[in-house]
Amino acid sequence: MPTRYADRHLHQVDLARQCVALGGRYRTVELITGLSHSQLLNIFRPDRRTLPRGRAPDSPEWYYRGNLLDRIDASVFAASYRRHRLLQFEPAHSLIGGYRRYISICGANHRLNFDRAFDLAGHIEGIWVIEQPQLALASCPVCGSHHISVIGDLPLSNAECPFCKLVRRYDLDQRIQSAFPAQPQPNPSSVAWSAAFLSGILRVTSKE
Ligand SMILES: [Zn+2]
Repeated sequence: MPTRYADRHLHQVDLARQCVALGGRYRTVELITGLSHSQLLNIFRPDRRTLPRGRAPDSPEWYYRGNLLDRIDASVFAASYRRHRLLQFEPAHSLIGGYRRYISICGANHRLNFDRAFDLAGHIEGIWVIEQPQLALASCPVCGSHHISVIGDLPLSNAECPFCKLVRRYDLDQRIQSAFPAQPQPNPSSVAWSAAFLSGILRVTSKE
């Protein structure tokens, strides 16, 4: 974060523009950048009507109510966010960079919006409006992928791993098949996962 006021303000405005471009709501952008509501109104005056309004999520309950695909998306984002943090990027830049990476992996049909990504990062680190970390990334002992769990939980099985659940349910669930369409394989007995699934999601969540 720059120390001179002018540089700091330019840095905040730049962050705000990136957050808004990714769909962030006013409240979310306020919390990330430190800019006030009125400052944001001035910055985005020409396209104010295009800004998403309403409250940002402030509880991880939405994650627990989500379906399997929601949880997979959340875990992919969280793994990308953590990767940026390990590379020493500050939380705001890790959120933006991690969210962009998540979109590049999950594509146009990604399910996690920017406000929920912000909420997840806050609950993982205990930052912004969240006082204590409540969520963490756990490593599945079977597939090696990282998935979101309650902080302090050390999974002894793959019972809660959304990626193992995905593999188990794939043949039975058309919604999952639509989200991760299979590719034709020369050997029909092999599991024909999409290239995006194999090369993207599992790799990201197990190595990032
Ligand atoms: Zn697993």
